[in-house]
Amino acid sequence: MNEAIENLLRADLRGRTPYGAPQLDVPVRLNTNENSYAVPDDVVAAITAAVTETARHLNRYPDREFTELREALAAYLRSQTGVGIAPEQVWAGNGSNEVLLHLVQAFGGVGRTALGFTPAYSMHPIITRTTGTTWVDGLRGTPSGVFDLDAGLAVRQVRATQPDIVFVCSPNNPTGTALTLDVVEAVVEAAPTSLVVVDEAYAEFARPGTPSAMTLLEGRPLLVVTRTMSKAFALAGARVGYLAADPDLVDALRLVRMPYHLSDPTQAVALAAIRHDASLLVTVEAIKGERDRIVAELAGLGYPPVPSDANFVLYGGLADARETWQALLDRGVLVRDVGIPHHLRVTAGTPEETSTFLRAMADLPDSHRQHARDTHQQALEARA
Ligand code: PMP
Repeated sequence: MNEAIENLLRADLRGRTPYGAPQLDVPVRLNTNENSYAVPDDVVAAITAAVTETARHLNRYPDREFTELREALAAYLRSQTGVGIAPEQVWAGNGSNEVLLHLVQAFGGVGRTALGFTPAYSMHPIITRTTGTTWVDGLRGTPSGVFDLDAGLAVRQVRATQPDIVFVCSPNNPTGTALTLDVVEAVVEAAPTSLVVVDEAYAEFARPGTPSAMTLLEGRPLLVVTRTMSKAFALAGARVGYLAADPDLVDALRLVRMPYHLSDPTQAVALAAIRHDASLLVTVEAIKGERDRIVAELAGLGYPPVPSDANFVLYGGLADARETWQALLDRGVLVRDVGIPHHLRVTAGTPEETSTFLRAMADLPDSHRQHARDTHQQALEARA
């Protein structure tokens, strides 16, 4: 980096690396947990008509309060979770990343601390640090599973850190693990004056009987649940994420958002998509089926998968994750090396994509296998 630029850059940002999942033009892209299904024709038509209509009015700023979108998102959440979410409880941004940024801008900052339980979504620390908030890397891992987080483990770390913000992710990226609600309840109880953010980006893919933390919002004014249209709704390119929380908390986010942060086309695309949610969400069941097939077949191949409630699977048993990542890429399949030794993460795609991935895994020479001791034990040791 140019010396003058490096010298002027905030000291806490020097030497940091930006988010950088590879965007490569390969036949099978299963590395960023997108929805592999293209937007269906009826939704394309509705989006096109809605955007055409907004084009006439682009001389004007959009509705700063995105009122219609909030109403639509609240109605969607009510139908999905059975919880009586009102439009005043909903906030939206350009992806849930921006929604998370608004939260940290409003409730973090220099001198404040955020705690997360690693491995979790890699953007939680990056977003946190952009605001000068101190990040504390907590750990997951219980005797029953290296990537589990139970109430006791979470509460011990909350008590030790006394954070202003706690991030939990359910289903968790990159492990796929959903939390039981007692963990969220215990964290809120242990940190009664802290913001507790439950990132539910993958909630729609959870297996039956996995309740949303939306069911806990009532009476917990510092609890926030974030969601996105990038995954189940197959709209990653539109950049729309949202949250549900206490109306006063939502109100506070107005202090940090840029005016008119959600463009008219963005609002129009999101609204058209929600109005056609049935067409878009049919892919969810198909993706869950492929996810379960990946879990079953990888187990059969001797690469232990972590049980998943998301649209991806983390699996281990690899001698060298980077080498296997490259070998799969050489076979036209892009997966994610999330930095956990001996593990890779793969998104559940279409049946064809999933088959190509599984065939590539089955074809790998034996040298890709980890013949050492229990892989979970090793991952735990690597993080110790
Ligand atoms: N949370 C989690 C757990 C994620 O995995 C992602 C995207 N990979 C996001 C939030 C952000 O997604 P977006 O900004 O597209 O809503």
